Amino acid sequence: MNARNILNADLHCHSVISDGTLTPEDLADRARRGGVQLWALTDHDEVGGQHRAAAAAREQGLSYLTGTEISVTFAGETVHIVGLGFDADDPTLRQGLQATRGGRSQRALEMAAGLAQVGIAGAYEGALQFVGNPDLISRTHFARFLVDTGICKDTNEVFRRFLTEGKPGFVPHRWATLRNAIGWITGAGGVAVIAHPARYKFTPNEEYALFTEFKLHGGQAVEVITGSHSAQEALKYGEMAVEFNLAASRGSDFHSPDESHTDLGTLPYLPGELTPVWELLEDRIQ
Ligand code: AMP
Ligand code: MN
Ligand code: MN
Ligand code: MN
Repeated sequence: MNARNILNADLHCHSVISDGTLTPEDLADRARRGGVQLWALTDHDEVGGQHRAAAAAREQGLSYLTGTEISVTFAGETVHIVGLGFDADDPTLRQGLQATRGGRSQRALEMAAGLAQVGIAGAYEGALQFVGNPDLISRTHFARFLVDTGICKDTNEVFRRFLTEGKPGFVPHRWATLRNAIGWITGAGGVAVIAHPARYKFTPNEEYALFTEFKLHGGQAVEVITGSHSAQEALKYGEMAVEFNLAASRGSDFHSPDESHTDLGTLPYLPGELTPVWELLEDRIQ
């Protein structure tokens, strides 16, 4: 094991400012208790929690990198691109994220209409009860409503039965382009990271295209150790990181004590042969 990789970094999680259930302050406290040394809050399409998270990290004695997770449409699929270590006040980044969030309310109304057709009334209002940021209604909030009403036993069941492609509450949506998302992050001084690559339903050719175009537009890292990878998937994407000369990131993708199976700070270390993303961001750590 390479000493530079032995760092309990958790560079992917969500607060009430997107679809998590804890505040930035409670997450910072939980991260410290979980042994995290370097932390980033990465709310979906939103940097509204960054100043709170950085201040909370300072109080807890944690090193901090700014973060976000941008929704992108690539080859007809939704891909998530994490940004780390950018200037959270950068106007172009903020405008880009605002535009990306923009369609969420209309999409949510259409999702509720789809659910109404299969006899689930009031889903829009129901989901809104779980929303912390009115700009950021997500499928997760619908999932919490359907669990709360007893229609499903957990959020996984909701996604399987109602919220994924072909299911009654699924509404196709066009998010940011890969080029723009990477451009906003790097233009604000940050590093772009492919989030949880094993989650996408790409053919090998499409996946190769994603990694190639990601590099072409200035992307520099990929999540290798994440709450959504099996040990085998971590091995595969470690090899992809080497093949594409990308740095590697590590993050739990923690959303909620009741829903997330991977808690802050509990993942294995990054494999020693990989370049940790924090090496590219030394001067951005707060
Ligand atoms: P949205 O951005 O509104 O499309 O919502 C995407 C979010 O839904 C992701 O960030 C996850 O938090 C959550 N999600 C996606 N798939 C699942 C799943 N199978 N089970 C639980 N949560 C999921
Ligand atoms: Mn989420
Ligand atoms: Mn994601
Ligand atoms: Mn996430």
